[in-house]
Amino acid sequence: MEMKKESIERVEKIERLKRDKNAIILAHNYQRAEVQDIAEFVGDSLELARKAMETTSDIIIFCGVDFMAETAAILNPDKKVIIPDAGAICPMAQQLFADDLLVAKREYPDAEVVLYVNTLAESKALADCICTSANAQEIVDAMDASTILFGPDHNLAYHAQKTTSKKIISVPEHGLCPSHHQIALEDLIKAKEAHPGAKIIVHPECIPEVQDHADYIASTSGMVRICKEVKDAEFLIGTEVGLLHRLEKEAPGKKFYPISTTAVCPQMKMHTLEKIEVALEKEKPEVVVKKEIMGPARKAIERMLEISQ
Ligand code: SF4
Repeated sequence: MEMKKESIERVEKIERLKRDKNAIILAHNYQRAEVQDIAEFVGDSLELARKAMETTSDIIIFCGVDFMAETAAILNPDKKVIIPDAGAICPMAQQLFADDLLVAKREYPDAEVVLYVNTLAESKALADCICTSANAQEIVDAMDASTILFGPDHNLAYHAQKTTSKKIISVPEHGLCPSHHQIALEDLIKAKEAHPGAKIIVHPECIPEVQDHADYIASTSGMVRICKEVKDAEFLIGTEVGLLHRLEKEAPGKKFYPISTTAVCPQMKMHTLEKIEVALEKEKPEVVVKKEIMGPARKAIERMLEISQ
């Protein structure tokens, strides 16, 4: 009971601080339920990038992982972007460093580079275009070159390759998301046996075998849209479990089952109400991107936003 009171008081304080400081909270679909509930906007990487560009707030409290907050900072050089816990570092983004990309570019000089938004800002600065899980197929197809260097997610490259005649080369060869990698085909088969009438929706960060058995492959916000639009009442969800909170809120009356309950991203869960309150109060830790990479990284992100309306 006491905890609940504390929690209510903390939420009230956060709301007050937001008003006083003209701040906005943007939260990714994988955030804790209580963090999603106090955010002005909850969405996937593409939606959050767009929201970050649209906002008139002076401060953006970004509840996501490092590369997402960096993207918001790159798109908003005049705003203060704050990440409540600076330790929220995406392990997938750490799988592709700028030096590795330079080696690949030398090996394939005619190729264009399309990088998943889940990359470090230094790597983004070397890309021709950025993509998200919502638009990877569209972006790859819109490129001029016939060979595309694509990284760091090998599974998203598999998904993009399905709808293009371009040659996609993964950099690194086997980059992956540790949380989605846990969702195994056996989990999917078991879940389907338990809920035979449920539609299967999985994220393109899942392994190819899981993608191949799905009724739909979609980004997290794509999943929300599909679950709301189709008339089916039961769904097996193949992504980080945090999305179920949003699904249950936005599609009440429908049933959602995670294909794997262990598909949890610990980095996404690092932001708490307590850390958000402190971040708002102290206006730190601020996300700072090196000046020399701001321009080229922004160009690659803006190219994506132009192609993918
Ligand atoms: S879910 Fe995977 S890709 Fe997303 S932040 Fe976590 S580790 Fe990175």
